[in-house]
Amino acid sequence: MPSYVIPDKCDGCKALDKTACQHICPNDLMVLNKDLMKAYNRAPEMCWECYSCVKICPTQAIEVRGYADFVPMGASVTPLRSSDSIMWTVKFRNGTLKRFKFPIRTTPEGTAVPNGGFNEGKGDLKSHELYTEPESCGMANIPPVK
Ligand code: SF4
Ligand code: SF4
Repeated sequence: MPSYVIPDKCDGCKALDKTACQHICPNDLMVLNKDLMKAYNRAPEMCWECYSCVKICPTQAIEVRGYADFVPMGASVTPLRSSDSIMWTVKFRNGTLKRFKFPIRTTPEGTAVPNGGFNEGKGDLKSHELYTEPESCGMANIPPVK
C-alpha cells in the first residue's frame, strides 16, 4: 500500500522551500498544498513503498501499510530516525508494542568515506563508475586461471 500523510500530524515542514518528503522521494510523488500547508502523495499508484518519506518526516506524519510478509496483518510500523540509528516501533493489532533499533551509519552524520577505504584505480579506472576498481572488487583474491 502506498504512502499516505496523516493531515493532523503534518506541519508542511514549517514552510521551508521544499519539504523533507518532497526532497527525499525518488519518484517525485510528494507535493505540498500551500493553502493548507499539508503534503500528500499525488500518484499513489506510482509509489514504490520505499519508506524514505516515512523515515525522514520530522513529525512522523507519513505511513505506509506494509505487505504482510513484513508487517503482520493489522499492525503498523513507525520509524523514528536519529543521527545514527532508526528506532522501529511495531504496533500489533492486539495493542502489543515491540521496538527494534538499528544503526544506519558507519561514519558520523555529515561525513562519508567516498572511496570506502580502497585506493583509487588508474587511468580509465579513475572514472566515476570504476573509481576504486579493481581493488574494491577483490581482484587480488581471485585465483588465476591455470
Ligand atoms: S515531511 Fe512530514 S511534516 Fe514535512 S511536509 Fe512531508 S508529511 Fe508534512
Ligand atoms: S514511499 Fe518512497 S516512493 Fe512512496 S512516496 Fe514515499 S518516498 Fe516516494
